[in-house]
Amino acid sequence: ATPTSITVGIGKAAEYGILIRASDALQQIQKIDTIVLDKTGTITTGQPSVTDIIPIEGYDKNQILHYAASLERYSEHPLGQAIVQAAQGIPLDEVHNFNALAGYGVQGQLADKTLLLGNAKLLQSQAIETSSLTDTATQLAQAGKTPVYLAVNQQLIGIIAIADPIKPDSAQAIRTLQHMGLNVVMMTGDNQRTAQAIATQIGITDVLAEVLPADKANKIKSLQTQGRIVAMVGDGINDAPALAQAHVGIAIGTGTDVAIEASDITLIQGKLTSVATAIQISRATLQNIK
Ligand code: ADP
Ligand code: MG
Repeated sequence: ATPTSITVGIGKAAEYGILIRASDALQQIQKIDTIVLDKTGTITTGQPSVTDIIPIEGYDKNQILHYAASLERYSEHPLGQAIVQAAQGIPLDEVHNFNALAGYGVQGQLADKTLLLGNAKLLQSQAIETSSLTDTATQLAQAGKTPVYLAVNQQLIGIIAIADPIKPDSAQAIRTLQHMGLNVVMMTGDNQRTAQAIATQIGITDVLAEVLPADKANKIKSLQTQGRIVAMVGDGINDAPALAQAHVGIAIGTGTDVAIEASDITLIQGKLTSVATAIQISRATLQNIK
């Protein structure tokens, strides 16, 4: 491509709210055959809210929220923020020794009680029995909600379900990318069932779920090892290494600065439909100069 046509292409993209940092990225993006999409904040709005609170017998919903929100007050995770939001009006207690376990959940100490809140793997790792609420959790997950378990003093006392709405244009954006001949993959730290339920709603069959934050870049690398040319789209701090690893890293402009800095392209409005637009502009730019 000539420098002029590249400049024109980058300018054209900017008109659509697609910021291309390097001329390289404009040339690379029409070569990709695989697009990996982060779920939370990329396919979904990233603004989850609590939908269900299910205590075990002997506890009520407010007690569950009180413990959970007292703990999540110290969390920066969107799930934590949803729980704090849901507990508005409930007086919270001081938590000590707060600890966030990336990809699993949070823990802390409230007076003489040990609190643990997170996914099934987290509770299982501490040998806490979850079987009384397994069926409930399964149903919630099949509805596309994320169930988080709350244990007090190593005993399960309830589940909180959180739902993150799918962005209105995600399904259409994914269909367009598939029609362009691309393999579309969803990658998330969320549990397999919830991930699968969301994927089904938007027409994705290829799902990488329960991926720990530290493993996201490795998943991209292994696709590359298989010969794939990969673009990764993400918004979170967790996504930054994967965005940097991909042939083309694409950040959601409404996401974190860390993700934007790790990427070659930023989608200002955070719309997934812009990914197809970027590829079309790239193809047109490079065809013009043949
Ligand atoms: P994502 O890819 O959605 O950003 P994460 O790797 O951050 O996922 O988290 C994976 C899972 O760990 C979540 O779906 C949730 O079950 C659990 N988890 C992580 N952080 C928290 C938290 N602060 N509170 C409750 N659960 C959490
Ligand atoms: Mg995200």
